[in-house]
Amino acid sequence: MTDRNSEGRRGASRREFVGRAAGGACLLAALPVRVLAAPPRAEEGDETSVQLGYRHDTKSVDKKKYPRHAATQECVNCAMWQGTPSDAWAGCAMFGRKQIAAKGWCMAWAPKPA
Ligand code: SF4
Repeated sequence: MTDRNSEGRRGASRREFVGRAAGGACLLAALPVRVLAAPPRAEEGDETSVQLGYRHDTKSVDKKKYPRHAATQECVNCAMWQGTPSDAWAGCAMFGRKQIAAKGWCMAWAPKPA
């Protein structure tokens, strides 16, 4: 009698778990894709990018327009970089929610504090 009751409870418990898991999956599926997607990447033609002279590749910076630029200056070694040294793209204090390239550069570049 006790075994049957515990069997029944276990069965109900499994059914509850499966039901809840399915409900959770449905809830995730209902979330808008942009909630789960990575933040958008900055484009070189974006207004902020143009104003700051941002380039995805520091090697393509116009040396005449930005004479203080040095080839060693990259977003990944800038004080505004919000990623880790191994991230290819990450946030930047100058670009709001958009991500910028680790190898990028803009005129707001500043060395990371030592
Ligand atoms: S402020 Fe620094 S991290 Fe941000 S885009 Fe300019 S160089 Fe890159």
